[in-house]
Amino acid sequence: MSQTRREFIHRMSLASGALLASHPLFGKTAKSGDGKSVLVETAHFKNLGGWMLDNQFELHLGFSYLLAHGLGTPVDNASGRIQFPSAGTYHVWALTKDWCPGEWDSPGQFQVLVGDKALPETFGTQAEWGWQPGGSVEIPEGQLSTTVKLKDLTGFEGRCSALYFSQDATDIPPVDKKVLPKWRREKVGLPSSAVDQGHYDLVIVGGGIAGCAAAIAANSQGLKIALIHNRPVLGGNASGEIRVHTEGIHGRASEILDLIDTPHYPNSDPLALEADKKRMANMKALSNVDIYLSHIMMSCEMKDGRIHAVKAVETANGTFKRFTGTQFLDSTGDGWLGYMAGCQFRYGRESKHEFGEEWKEHGDLWSPEKPDNRVMGSSVMWYTGERNHRVKFPSVPWAKPVAKNHVATAGEWQWEYSHNDLHQIHDAETIRDHMFRAIYGSYANAIKRRENANLELDWISFLVGKRESRRIMGDHI
Ligand SMILES: Cc1cc2nc3c(=O)[nH]c(=O)nc-3n(C[C@H](O)[C@H](O)[C@H](O)COP(=O)(O)OP(=O)(O)OC[C@H]3O[C@@H](n4cnc5c(N)ncnc54)[C@H](O)[C@@H]3O)c2cc1C
Repeated sequence: MSQTRREFIHRMSLASGALLASHPLFGKTAKSGDGKSVLVETAHFKNLGGWMLDNQFELHLGFSYLLAHGLGTPVDNASGRIQFPSAGTYHVWALTKDWCPGEWDSPGQFQVLVGDKALPETFGTQAEWGWQPGGSVEIPEGQLSTTVKLKDLTGFEGRCSALYFSQDATDIPPVDKKVLPKWRREKVGLPSSAVDQGHYDLVIVGGGIAGCAAAIAANSQGLKIALIHNRPVLGGNASGEIRVHTEGIHGRASEILDLIDTPHYPNSDPLALEADKKRMANMKALSNVDIYLSHIMMSCEMKDGRIHAVKAVETANGTFKRFTGTQFLDSTGDGWLGYMAGCQFRYGRESKHEFGEEWKEHGDLWSPEKPDNRVMGSSVMWYTGERNHRVKFPSVPWAKPVAKNHVATAGEWQWEYSHNDLHQIHDAETIRDHMFRAIYGSYANAIKRRENANLELDWISFLVGKRESRRIMGDHI
């Protein structure tokens, strides 16, 4: 664990930034379509600064966002170009959320700068995702083309998905999930049609260990394969972004596992970054596999009861792409493709009577009388590192209701959260944010003790590592 938090954030930002910035549409200037308003997609910013592009909840929320994941230290500004259609007064809204509302200052506060001038409103202070009004800004004739920046004020998970500037004070953007994505595409001038990527023998959705293994096996059969993965690195739970080691049992699958497996190390160890490099290099070397990183599969088309095509969006620029295929493989972990195709699925526990699973000794804990929504939980892992000085950390009153007096300086796989009332997909952001409160609060409690006073937060994942989700039904149970 010799890597510091700053080194880690820097490396991850460089890796993500290099992959994203290579696209010609990434970092394009936000322009007006109607001559009086401009929508800025923060995910399209050329410079993400220290903000993370968080696209893990896109299929539920209907959008991705930038996250100020600074572990208590404000992150560097994110910025992009904007072209106002004409001089005048623009009313401003930010699509954001106070992720932890209560009787304390909102933890995720940030400012918006137009040019170098900050808008008077502090954002991230209204509960629930919505368009927080930010007052107005005067745009003079000489500054129609300018920079817009997000300035993090706390380092505690502020988030912003979009900024809207309009000369009409009543032109409040929509919030309805059914309307918002289409409205956004039209505002930034993105076509609703998809770029055709051609036909593949096999289209794999989800580049975790299962998706990578399937791609290697299919490649060895000479098939033409598309591997669509939503994150900038392959590996899913095993990637350096989540860091569950795999240590696969090789045997007959050695030829596959050698390319993607990790050695044994404690979950969350930075050695996961080395395993990423090996996996990425081996996967890129496969001759018949086209890898689409940072692409989220958004929908599927059916023909005669079979999946015919899938559509994916490239997060950094909003481009839709369409892939037709002979066979499709759902390795999303959440069963997204099967779900969209209308497959039967299960979630939670069956009644003990359905498959005769009763075990009297363990009672309801083993199998319930009635079906319920209990599943294994999600983990957010983290660790601290020793410094040679006393570490300062801001007070986190908003974390206390979750962390209470618990003391911890690292969190391995046992840092797991599930609740029968929380769904692993629909409530994944709430689950992740609950873990943030538990982590920051337990760490804040820990460093009050003399023996922990030099321990600094080195790494917290911002992705939820899921264990269990939808189970798509096949011919056999
Ligand atoms: C802390 C922890 C400890 C664990 N310990 C164990 C253990 O001891 N033993 C064990 O057997 N298992 C364990 N697991 C579970 C194990 O990690 C998973 O079963 C395994 O990772 C599943 O691999 P996968 O490739 O199917 O899914 P994932 O690793 O979840 O990969 C799926 C990938 O698909 C991506 N994706 C999702 N939707 C889309 C979309 N629409 N478009 C594009 N991409 C998409 C996801 O972002 C993800 O990266 C553990 C999990 C955690 C979190």
